Amino acid sequence: DFVDFVKFFNRIIDRFEMAKSKEITFIRELPVTPLYVEIDTDKVTQVIDNIISNAQKYSPDGGSIRFTVTANDGELLVEIKDTGMGIPKEQVDRIFDRFYRVDRARARSMGGTGLGLAISREMIIAHNGKIWAESIEGKGTSIFFTLPYGLVDEEDEWD
Ligand code: ATP
Ligand code: MG
Repeated sequence: DFVDFVKFFNRIIDRFEMAKSKEITFIRELPVTPLYVEIDTDKVTQVIDNIISNAQKYSPDGGSIRFTVTANDGELLVEIKDTGMGIPKEQVDRIFDRFYRVDRARARSMGGTGLGLAISREMIIAHNGKIWAESIEGKGTSIFFTLPYGLVDEEDEWD
């Protein structure tokens, strides 16, 4: 599908904002102009759904989730940043592994299987993007992903 990513992302955020049960403030830092991307919208929706539900699940009341989209060099960069419990430094890169969950006891009480981010990674890679996390334990987590956009077919270039 060929879609405006900003509009597509806003709709997903709206859906979570309307359904949210916790006191979490949503902050949007999105471009005002459309950014067209060629994506499988069902799959990218699944990726974003998982990241936002994690941000909610692993954040206490009173926190916030900040959504940022920037575009440069044919690449769109998305950041979803929460002010939740965070992830210990040595475990951050493992959260994209299948069935990996930080602190089993803590994780069990929160439900889930530990597959969400592994599936998200596969889907982003299938779109020629990258996905990674930055986190400070006790402070919060940012999940970043990129998607190529506006790629120019060299044969179509004029000089
Ligand atoms: P599932 O998504 O399959 O329902 P899950 O949420 O446990 O289960 P993932 O989404 O793959 O699985 O996340 C893996 C683990 O990474 C989580 O169990 C949690 O420990 C940690 N994690 C993911 N996102 C966050 C976050 N925003 N803040 C803190 N920890 C997180
Ligand atoms: Mg999850």
